[in-house]
Amino acid sequence: MSRTLAAATITCFGLAACGPRPATQAPAPAPSAAKAEAPKPPEPTIEDLLAEWKGPHGGVPPWDQVRTELFQPAIEQAATEFLAEVEAIASSNEAATFDNTLAALERSGKRLDRAATLFFVMTGNRNAPEIQKLNGVIQPKLSEVSDKVNFNEKLFKRVKVVYDAREKTGLTAEQKRLVVKTYDDFMRRGANLDAEKKKRMGEINQALAKLFTDFGNRVQADEDTWVLLQKEDLAGLPEPLIQSYKAAATERKLEGFAVVNTRSAVDPFLTFSENREQRQKVWTAFIRRGDNGDKNDTNALIVEIVKLRAERAKLLGFKSHAHWRMSDTMAKDPARAEKLMMRVWPAAVARVKQEVADMQALATKLGHKLTIEPWDYRFYMEKVRKERYDLDQNEFKNYFELENMIAASYYMAERLYGYAFEEITGTVSVFHPDVRVYRVTKKDDGTHVGFLYRDDFARQYKRSGAWQMTYQGQHKLDAPVDAIVSNNNNFTKAGKDQPVLISLDDAETLFHEFGHALHALTNDTTYPSLGGTPRDFVEFPSQVHENWVLTRDVLDKFALHYKTKEKMPQALIDKMRAASTFNQGFATVEYLSAAIVDMKLHTDPKGAVDPKRFEEKALAALGMPKQIVMRHRLPQFQHLFTSDAYSAGYYSYLWSDVMAADAWEAFEETKDPWHPATAKKFMEIILATGDAIDRAEAYRQFRGRDPKVEALLKNRGFPVR
Ligand SMILES: [Zn+2]
Repeated sequence: MSRTLAAATITCFGLAACGPRPATQAPAPAPSAAKAEAPKPPEPTIEDLLAEWKGPHGGVPPWDQVRTELFQPAIEQAATEFLAEVEAIASSNEAATFDNTLAALERSGKRLDRAATLFFVMTGNRNAPEIQKLNGVIQPKLSEVSDKVNFNEKLFKRVKVVYDAREKTGLTAEQKRLVVKTYDDFMRRGANLDAEKKKRMGEINQALAKLFTDFGNRVQADEDTWVLLQKEDLAGLPEPLIQSYKAAATERKLEGFAVVNTRSAVDPFLTFSENREQRQKVWTAFIRRGDNGDKNDTNALIVEIVKLRAERAKLLGFKSHAHWRMSDTMAKDPARAEKLMMRVWPAAVARVKQEVADMQALATKLGHKLTIEPWDYRFYMEKVRKERYDLDQNEFKNYFELENMIAASYYMAERLYGYAFEEITGTVSVFHPDVRVYRVTKKDDGTHVGFLYRDDFARQYKRSGAWQMTYQGQHKLDAPVDAIVSNNNNFTKAGKDQPVLISLDDAETLFHEFGHALHALTNDTTYPSLGGTPRDFVEFPSQVHENWVLTRDVLDKFALHYKTKEKMPQALIDKMRAASTFNQGFATVEYLSAAIVDMKLHTDPKGAVDPKRFEEKALAALGMPKQIVMRHRLPQFQHLFTSDAYSAGYYSYLWSDVMAADAWEAFEETKDPWHPATAKKFMEIILATGDAIDRAEAYRQFRGRDPKVEALLKNRGFPVR
């Protein structure tokens, strides 16, 4: 069902990118040709965006039929149909039962789901201006549709009948779980409010949908700016990085080298550039995204969003937006999330003090007369790393070829879960020529598991960062439906016949997104709505899979030097292990400060806020080290302000990481990262069950106890108290 449609299937987040001109729209053949013209394929219609997906193994998305101008009429028609389906369920003359109400809702809205999914892929991967504009119409439309369903009194009455009778109607455990979750969700979304309050809540949701789109578009506009460098500004930069800046300039028809205002371009510049003035310039542009007092400034939008959220929470009877947003998570209460964050915070700050002292000492030793400022942090950190561990990030890159690391991730899935990945070409359409499609099967008997789409390379109008998206969730409500998932990265293409080399961080990100994909592919629930897991659980399967990058088997088989094809020498691995907790002060403070500010912002019951003052005050109260800024400052914090999904939810990465670190220890305790019984347990209890059993309970079944925070502290090199 589509009650919570908007962007609900995307994990790892960000913003989106551009209107496709599919490859099938070839120019008309030259009229002089003697050959008879081939019959033209029929022009696509809105029905092509709505109909069941055709193609091999149960169907694939019809990218060759997608036209930007079809989205709005298709989504409008599907919305009307969906509301009619819901009305039919709500006004049935039969007594309400699980099947005619809950299961019927699960079956409804499929055509709208399909069109919206295609559209959200566009906003993520090809978000050109015409898609951005369209998003400003489609998001409010979807929000309106959700509200109409959630506010349908007759429908909610029927859901409540089934809910009240759930213990005496012979429902299975999974059915009962669906009933409770659906009922709770209706309540959370205002189903039992009076008419006046519903009206106001609808207005708030409409206003928020517009503000979210606006926020995202403004930040994206600021990210599509750049600092232009000339040859003399390049000191210290590795050659592949220079080439990527050159390519970015060429793409924008500029002479020189463009450091585009995205993290993937900015972070390596700050790490390697010896030009302090340019570092400051690039850093400043980056942290001021959305905060330049111009047409892309987002501060006024934040004021509105936070205020409306507080008002909505009050309408619904919650203490604050955070209390509302967290009511369906594992943590449940903001206080529990804050408690965990504040347990880690002091150790991280103490570590930063040490890191800054080390960098200052090295700068002095090098004769650099300066005080470490935020734009110096990555640069001197890299120098300390090199001095202390004799470890150069670039040395690693020579061993991490993108194609090899993709193969390594498939190897992991094969050894842990028995999956096989086979690329299919020619028979399945794609939304961009860079996209590759893989069929996933069970290796032992060839059973079809699903499809994986990969879109690995950066380009204009593609959202920055890395993310996973589920195009089609697994379920077996009627006939079995298999998962279709995608992994999306922003790697820079190499020159002709050159391999794409990625960093260790990149390799871990690759495994992270692939972990999300494995989670969706492995899901085995009857009802579609039980396939999604709480926000603070969903990063657990992804984070735990990062650990397999550095296992001996993966390194020996796949981390081969791109020139010599030699294995990574033991000495390099030892150095890297020795340095594994290096820089955890910076990484933890950068992340946690953002997560804590998010929570403080959304626990204020009044929601009256001046974003700049709020950020300053909150950070001062925390004792934020002045050499670090939040990973996302409020004016560019897309997790919080492009949808409700991650608002009061940025803590989720830490919450999930507690489980990820503790679960990885379960493998380590066996002395075998591939330990078959542990992998089987992980697959069957954690990955396959969706949210069909309570996630805390599932964790206990896997580990025999609740997760402990000690493994996470140890991983980051913090004292375990
Ligand atoms: Zn993730």
